[in-house]
Formats: sequence, structure tokens, C-alpha cells
Amino acid sequence: MTDTDPLLSVDDLHAHIATADGTVRAVDGVSFDVQRGETVCLVGESGSGKTLTCDSITGLVSSSQVDVSGSVTFEGEELLSAGERRLRSIRGNRIAYLFQNAQNALDPVYTVGDQLVEAITFHRDVSDGTARERAIDLLQTVGLSRPAERLDAYPHEFSDGMRQRVLIAIALAAEPDLLIADEPTSALDVTIQSRIIDLIDDLRRERDLTLLLVTHDLRVVASLADRVVVMYAGNAVERGPVEAVLEQPGHPYTQSLFRSFVGQGGTNGPDRRTETVGRDGSIPKEGCCFRRECPHAVKACRGDEPPFEPVAGVEDHRAACIYHGDRKDARTVLDTAPQLDRGVTDDD
Ligand code: SF4
Repeated sequence: MTDTDPLLSVDDLHAHIATADGTVRAVDGVSFDVQRGETVCLVGESGSGKTLTCDSITGLVSSSQVDVSGSVTFEGEELLSAGERRLRSIRGNRIAYLFQNAQNALDPVYTVGDQLVEAITFHRDVSDGTARERAIDLLQTVGLSRPAERLDAYPHEFSDGMRQRVLIAIALAAEPDLLIADEPTSALDVTIQSRIIDLIDDLRRERDLTLLLVTHDLRVVASLADRVVVMYAGNAVERGPVEAVLEQPGHPYTQSLFRSFVGQGGTNGPDRRTETVGRDGSIPKEGCCFRRECPHAVKACRGDEPPFEPVAGVEDHRAACIYHGDRKDARTVLDTAPQLDRGVTDDD
């Protein structure tokens, strides 16, 4: 591996779920890289496949109903074909996962200290005494006062924000290189959210952590991300440097996502799945996955899946839309007011 190789590389990742009604392509060919030390945000509405993408990366998809394929490499090592033992060693040691719901992620019958010490001794060959000292340090690191005292408390004695800090401490226990944080503030009171995000940002800088962050919140994206991957219906539809994507979104879905966020006054993000997956609730099987909702769709959008093309000639800002690449009329079309009825019928 060279210094310029990505720490994490996701290539054509699929996670297909077998259901009684057929196969659901919950993640459908997602590709992106995460360079060492950078923060990549996965953005999209609920149900767009962000969490399943992260679960697939870390081998946390437990259901036999889910078929995961493609390639995920971490420091050049393929994870999708790695055995459970190897994966378990990488998870926690090198890749840590911060879950959404601190209330459910901690075991209510064990003290915070028990859970933190267990996380430390699972990954490090140290005595219980050393692990306890380290646990105190970690609680202090995540901003909990009186850390020695807190070790003997149970999760229910903590507020949501304090429980999330404990989860962050557990995630840091083995000093991972990559932290995957899945909506780490979504279950928190709005007044606590920014403090937790600030904490994650501080820790990331201090520890030179690489961060893959799933979020609805564009304010978080704007303040933390180096690069953004926008997901819709299991597909990555746009990716690029944060400034480029925020200033000049190239995919009509990204545009509508941003408009809806602004329309909601910048609250904790849109949940528009029932509005956007298609008028009958389905995703087109061919062509562009967004075409049933796209105000700019034309007949060509029903053909092949649109390739990722540079937006406005910027090589590392790409969108899966026919208006990019060789087309010179992208901005003319995409910047015009949406035309909801362009006479495009859809008989899928
Ligand atoms: S390819 Fe067509 S349907 Fe898809 S986003 Fe672009 S214009 Fe819309």
C-alpha cells in the first residue's frame, strides 16, 4: 500500500434482501473511497441504504436473507471474503462502529465501567486494573466529569448525551484507524447534538482518525465533511468534495434533498422515502433509479443506468445523471425550474 491508496475502498457493493415478494436491492452498486485522515459523509433520506452499506462494510449483516457482494478493502485487505475471526479482529481494533441509539447499544444490567473494561480487555492484553485506569482516561477524554465515579454507574443513571459519550469511549478503546458513525446524534435532543458532533470532530483531529459518518444533517456535513457521497434508493448518485457538492449539486436528487432540508428550516433532515421511491412505491428496475421522481427526466433516462460523469468538468465531483459528462447543457437544464410533466411515461 502507498500513502495515496485509500484506507477504505468500497467497489460495486451490493446488498440484496430476499423477501417473499422478491429481491430488494437495498444497496445496489455503491462505490466510494475513504482516504486516511479524511471525513466522508454518507447522506440520503431514511431507507436509502446508508446503514446497510456500513453494516456490509464491517460484516455486521447477520441475516442469511441478505446477500452481500462486490468488494470492500481496508488497507488493501478484502473484507467481504474475510472469515468471521479475522473480521472480528479488524472490527474494534482497526475499525470501530458507533451506533445510532445509545439507549439500546449499552447493556442495562452491567455498569458503564464493566462494559468499557470489557471493550478494552477484548482488544488488548492488559490486566483489569490497567483496563480500569484506561477506562477512566477514556471517560475523561469524552468529556465526562468525575470519571472514576461514573464507572460504577449503570446506563440508566446517565442522560442520552452521556450514554452517547460512553459509546464513543467504547469505540475509541482499541484506538481504531477508522470510525464509522451511523447517525450518532439522531436519537439525541437537539441541544446535545452539536456538542456530540463537536466532540467527534475534536477526537478526530486529536487522534488522526478517519471518519465515515452517516448523517441526515447538512449542517453536520458542511462543518465536518471533506467529501460527500449522496445515496438514493440503494444507489450512490453523487460524490465529491464537500464544497463542490454543496455549492453546485449535480444530481437532481441531491438538489431536491438540499431544497427539502432548507425548506424544513435545516432540521434534522428529510425522511421522504414514501414520497420519492416512486409513485407506486417501487424503484425502476432499469435506467436511472430516480427517473420516476426526477423533474428533468427524459426518455433517455429509461435506457442504460447513467454512468458517473464529472460535474462541470471537475474530475472528483461526479453525478450519475445523463446531463453530465459530454453534455454541455447540464446547468441550463438542471438550474431551470423543475418541470413535473415532461410527457415521459413509465411502464416498468
Ligand atoms: S438521469 Fe435522467 S432521471 Fe436520472 S437524474 Fe438525470 S435527468 Fe433525472
